[in-house]
Amino acid sequence: MELHDLTVRELRQRLAAKEVSSAEVTEHVLRRIEQLDPHVGAYLTVTADQALAAAKAADEARARGEAVHPLAGVPGGLKDNIVTEGVRTTAGSRVLENWTPPYDATVVRRLKDAGAPVLGKTNMDEFAMGSSTETSAFKKTRNPWDAGRAPGGSSGGSAAAVAAGMGYWALGSDTGGSIRQPAAFCGVVGMKPTYGLVSRFGLIAMASSLDQIGPFTRDVADAAELLNVIAGHDPKDSTSAPGRAPDFTAALKAEAKGLRIGLPKEYFTEGISAEVQAAVRQAAAELERAGATVEEVSLPHAEYALGAYYMIVSAESSSNLGRYDGVRYGRREAGADVPAMMTATRALLGPEVKRRIVLGTFVRGKERLPEYYMRAARVRTLLRRDFEQAFEKVDVLLTPVTPTTAFPLGRRVRSQMEAYAADICTVAVNLAGLPALSMPCGVGADGLPIGLQFIGPAFGDAQVLQAAYTYEQLAWPEGAGRAWRAGKEVDVDGH
Ligand code: GLN
Repeated sequence: MELHDLTVRELRQRLAAKEVSSAEVTEHVLRRIEQLDPHVGAYLTVTADQALAAAKAADEARARGEAVHPLAGVPGGLKDNIVTEGVRTTAGSRVLENWTPPYDATVVRRLKDAGAPVLGKTNMDEFAMGSSTETSAFKKTRNPWDAGRAPGGSSGGSAAAVAAGMGYWALGSDTGGSIRQPAAFCGVVGMKPTYGLVSRFGLIAMASSLDQIGPFTRDVADAAELLNVIAGHDPKDSTSAPGRAPDFTAALKAEAKGLRIGLPKEYFTEGISAEVQAAVRQAAAELERAGATVEEVSLPHAEYALGAYYMIVSAESSSNLGRYDGVRYGRREAGADVPAMMTATRALLGPEVKRRIVLGTFVRGKERLPEYYMRAARVRTLLRRDFEQAFEKVDVLLTPVTPTTAFPLGRRVRSQMEAYAADICTVAVNLAGLPALSMPCGVGADGLPIGLQFIGPAFGDAQVLQAAYTYEQLAWPEGAGRAWRAGKEVDVDGH
């Protein structure tokens, strides 16, 4: 096993045994970024000096015999909509091209306090709007396993970094699938925690009632490790859930007996490719053979989720993005008077962002509010009830993540409706505020990974991890995020 391919826990063991130092590991991964990232394009900014300084500090603490945090000296990356003190944070947009935040997001503070070196900031769709990372104002990110394909999005850079060995973990954000879908496309584990479990303080807002930060890792237990660091109450986020978060690693045990699994029939429809459906059903069958029970369930309002999501996401985004007016944040373009300056500044936004601002401003207009936004809010309640009813009978739901494996770069740009429709399996989870985890469950005819989604009840994050861990131990005991690719090298010549 190559050094850059280890899990967080494997690396920790080697660090503890002094087989390798964190400085050596961090240098190794930085070198890999230097060699590989010109092809993959996962990072927008690399913070080598900061990462090495944190690595050395972790080494020194270990040398002094201090009890260090489990993540001390284990380097990873941050999606570029998570603000970092003194380090440029762009959200993939020209508007924030040169914005250097004066503070750290709460999750960043916690990672730094744990002694985890931050390698840099990863590429993303502009303001997290998209599913392929192609709406980034700065560059393309390629799928590490097929350079002609998209890594998914909007957290495509974070997924590609973890998949390609350019970081042991990465954080992303998920508003309608932006952690789970790129995790599925790049063949790694990605988790969207329950809304309110992880602080959003310092996350550049897209749609505040849906946004949630979560981890990318190479296996399920690593996701629990990361969640342990970032979860928990934060007084700086008014939507942060009170109380202490549980220890997510302590809950992990591979036990299929007694596990009740539901397959929502609405997620196994003609829009989802046959090979994806088959792979998900096969995962359910494997758990069933090991002692779990599997039954079909129904989420009767699932078919309205996409429509409601795009209403709500656009309405909230258009409100949140009003602040990029050239006055308060980021870049200011010249103009003869204030309206001209604002117009010129807003012209920096890309077409996808503009489309959502226009749509969002329309649906939350005074006369249209009841017909669109309020109706979408009611659908949201109905969906939440659907899930609650399903969770009276089962512990977790098992569904596909995406209709297909990773699509070719360029395709989504041509067909906007197709891009929105492909979010069919992920958006309902955000509308209902639930935890969900995406992990590989098979390989498509094209050799690319197929994603599997575990969904749990609100604050059942430990339950989701536990079920996913059980499946991983059955099917991919060396870590789902690397076992499926069996010796595959990062594709650097497909362009
Ligand atoms: N693809 C979805 C969208 O474009 C999800 C985005 C996200 O989760 N940030 O809205």
